[in-house]
Amino acid sequence: MSEVTMLGMPGVKEVRPRTREGRTYFVRTFGCQMNEHDSERIAGLLESDGMSPVGTAEEADLVVLNTCTIRENADTKLYGYLGSLKRLKDDRPDLRIAVGGCSAQKERDIIQERAGWVDVVFGTHNVHRVVDLLDHAEEWGPITEIWDETKTVDDIPSGLPVHRESDHSAWVTITIGCNNSCTFCIVPIVRGAEISRRPGDVIREVERLAESGVKEITLLGQNVNSYGRDLDLNGRKPLFADLLRRVGAVEGIERVRYTSPHPKDFREDVAFAMAETPSVCEQIHFPLQSGSDRILARMHRGYTAERFLRKLEMMRSIVPGLNASTDVIVGFPGETEEDFQKTLDVMAQARFDNAFMFQFSPRPGTPAADYPDHVDPDVVQERFDRLVAQQNRITFERNQEEVGTIQRVMVEGPSKRDAKIATTRTRGNKIVHIPGTWDAGTFLEARIVEAAPHYLRGELAS
Ligand code: SF4
Repeated sequence: MSEVTMLGMPGVKEVRPRTREGRTYFVRTFGCQMNEHDSERIAGLLESDGMSPVGTAEEADLVVLNTCTIRENADTKLYGYLGSLKRLKDDRPDLRIAVGGCSAQKERDIIQERAGWVDVVFGTHNVHRVVDLLDHAEEWGPITEIWDETKTVDDIPSGLPVHRESDHSAWVTITIGCNNSCTFCIVPIVRGAEISRRPGDVIREVERLAESGVKEITLLGQNVNSYGRDLDLNGRKPLFADLLRRVGAVEGIERVRYTSPHPKDFREDVAFAMAETPSVCEQIHFPLQSGSDRILARMHRGYTAERFLRKLEMMRSIVPGLNASTDVIVGFPGETEEDFQKTLDVMAQARFDNAFMFQFSPRPGTPAADYPDHVDPDVVQERFDRLVAQQNRITFERNQEEVGTIQRVMVEGPSKRDAKIATTRTRGNKIVHIPGTWDAGTFLEARIVEAAPHYLRGELAS
């Protein structure tokens, strides 16, 4: 039987310090950038404890699953994967298994009830405790520790060691949780209410990253535009626009991006901060979700299609050359052909550079999962195909508009298909392939010579 504890609550046993020098770990990450960033922090903590990464669960002494509840059949997949780990553990009883992320937060002690071979279950905000929890499991047996929702900003640890996949780009979390209640989304349920980090803590983290050679920062939050509303700094609430300017001014940081803004909360001051801070990139991910006001209301998104388009226009007028992408859900419960046509119309007007398009899939525990009027899957598929065809055409046209321009690009590494070609990225977040080899993180001036549907080709401009 596992022991369930809350962070910092009585009953958490003290454990003796130890290190895992020479032992190996494998982290498997499901889901979004927030999870990928958490996995980097988990890896950093494990490496600080002496462990080294390996590429497969079979080679590892510790397997960490950082889970997501967003994908379809997430629970089935999680327990399926845990079943295969059980076979490994039967052969190697010393194998340790830890499960974190959104499914862990949502399922709580159910995971160890269903999969008794799991050693540690930790919640979405208990990442910093992973080494202590492993110590506990090795000493006293399986443990589950889930975020206690009474915690405040002071409980968010800053300055954790991080193992980053890239030396030149890093994510920095500015808020956790979400105060909205989009009816399709599980995040407020599993990640709790929004908590903002203090600006000083964020800036110190960015300064440390800059000192270690990082040139590109992406600020992360479920709704960056409501950053700071829960803080009180001598009677004042810090604004996201001010944070953006301060991050952009950190010496050594050449590119700043952020994700995700919320259309209902986006204000002009952020657009001006983008335009007036040279390191902040002309790029925004602006999630539409639907072009029908009726469906937007059912989703609890808090804006109409017209208001959304007005905000996009405002941003484009303030930030020249803005590159915009979006998310759209097709087949939300109750969506009629007329609703879907409105989505096509808004997407045609918005002319996004790129779009992430999804077919609605119910998340257990969300209001939308219980709506009675789900759309026939064949109808959803047919609408989805029409939307994708329209967007692919627009994306290609937007890419063609870049041909002939000169752009400052950052090298990400050799192309996966041809090591003699470098994969680079524009400030607007478009991929440009350029013949040649350079170190990742190198900046080049590139002339765009050709557009493909999903990337650009370029050459050195001088
Ligand atoms: S804003 Fe909506 S979609 Fe985004 S995390 Fe919050 S509830 Fe989910």
